[in-house]
Amino acid sequence: MQPTLTGDVVTPHDPGYAAARQDFNRRFDRFPRYVVFCRSVEDVQAAVRWSRQHGLPLRARSGRHSYEAYSVLDGGVVVDVSALNAVTRTGNTASIGAGATLGQLYDALWADGQVTIPGGSCTGVGVAGLTFGGGFGLLVRLMGLTCDSLIGLEMVDARGRLVRAEPDLLWASRGGGGGNFGIATRFEFGVHPVDYVTVYSVAWPFAALRAVFAAWQAWADPRALDRRLTPILVLGPGGITALGQFVGPQAELERLIAPLLAAAPPTSVRVVHETYIEAVHRFVGDWAVEPTLSRFKNTSAYQLAPFPDAALGTLADWLGRAPSPNTVVQFNLHGGAEADFAGGAYPWRGARCSLQYQAYWENPADGPAAVGWVNGLRRAMLPWTRGAYVNYIDADIADWPEAYYAGSLPRLLRVKRRYDPDDVFAFPQGLSSAYRGPGYRPSGAAPRPSGSTPRRP
Ligand SMILES: Cc1cc2nc3c(=O)[nH]c(=O)nc-3n(C[C@H](O)[C@H](O)[C@H](O)COP(=O)(O)OP(=O)(O)OC[C@H]3O[C@@H](n4cnc5c(N)ncnc54)[C@H](O)[C@@H]3O)c2cc1C
Repeated sequence: MQPTLTGDVVTPHDPGYAAARQDFNRRFDRFPRYVVFCRSVEDVQAAVRWSRQHGLPLRARSGRHSYEAYSVLDGGVVVDVSALNAVTRTGNTASIGAGATLGQLYDALWADGQVTIPGGSCTGVGVAGLTFGGGFGLLVRLMGLTCDSLIGLEMVDARGRLVRAEPDLLWASRGGGGGNFGIATRFEFGVHPVDYVTVYSVAWPFAALRAVFAAWQAWADPRALDRRLTPILVLGPGGITALGQFVGPQAELERLIAPLLAAAPPTSVRVVHETYIEAVHRFVGDWAVEPTLSRFKNTSAYQLAPFPDAALGTLADWLGRAPSPNTVVQFNLHGGAEADFAGGAYPWRGARCSLQYQAYWENPADGPAAVGWVNGLRRAMLPWTRGAYVNYIDADIADWPEAYYAGSLPRLLRVKRRYDPDDVFAFPQGLSSAYRGPGYRPSGAAPRPSGSTPRRP
């Protein structure tokens, strides 16, 4: 039987097309030929088979939060699984549809017995992209990365078959990156009980940068610091913020953060003891650290050892001449449960911090300066940093296969060749079966049949 496209299919002629094609980062404007909103696993299978039959490139899409908007493409098929978002729990295990956003799954798991998985802070992020790349959040030091709680998944492979992850695919799905092996339709996670947490946010003026950074770095030793606490430090031209979440009582947290408060006089100190789910919503509300502008360029690197003065001097210098106040450098402390976990492709478990260099803007004319600043700062910090986090995917990193995957790359390529030998799942920074070492660049698109324009099914 000939495959056909099923589900809710949106084409450029349909009124909903503009919204259907848009990813979260408005820096990109891409025009797919079809956006398929899948209502069932069969719709996903049909979309893969149909796209292959017509030689059209395709992209999987879940929460639309790819930094480079790699879940949408020009002239191809977007296979959107956001309607496959059911969340159910049985004992210590949750079945989570691959289209669920973090907000949907946090709320559902909280309502169903006060449990969670350790995910990211932004509730609009999709569980699929987050999990495939690793998944950093404010429970990482106590419970690990999101992918460390992954215990099973179902995926539509390059031939349109529904497969259950065997050990190699499960390993690759824990940090091997979204969009590489197939289209996930459902995940199984081990869930963790959680009730109350204490959260804090402390602010200083930019002038306190050196004193606060030195104190934070000495204090935030991933091996020595209580693993119930996951701290973040955000440096911006407009000021410095130390924030974090502690799974424990307020008095204990106040003792833990005392060395930070002594570093320099803060302009504000906020400490709140509340339910976990209240804290989840606080970090996307009042206490959100990212500017809320629609276009952005973010990139990353890992810090493996404490920074010497020269590294801090470089950061201070670049922050001092940032193109706008809507720029920040964020340090996420790792270690704890994440460092202990073995059994996934995520390769940066020994790191102290992941760093994120971020710039946001609204007016497209401000884009080049912002992008130039982010790229320049990442380059300037290379003497003291390594690699990059695949979930903060960055089209400007030339050695991306090694930077994202390091020692996991050879095994990931073996899994790629087994599940997708023809590179049906391809994008500009996608793993490719044809990869033959540093310098290789994939085409980013599946071959098209000559001269044929598929008609709307
Ligand atoms: C505002 C914001 C906040 C963020 N906060 C955090 C954070 O706290 N912690 C953190 O670790 N990361 C964070 N991220 C990064 C985030 O983890 C990645 O951008 C992630 O890839 C987004 O996944 P998504 O499903 O929302 O995006 P999408 O754009 O839908 O997909 C991302 C990638 O995964 C692929 N993909 C999507 N669905 C599937 C599927 N069903 N099967 C296979 N592949 C699929 C896509 O093809 C694409 O390559 C944040 C990003 C943003 C924009």
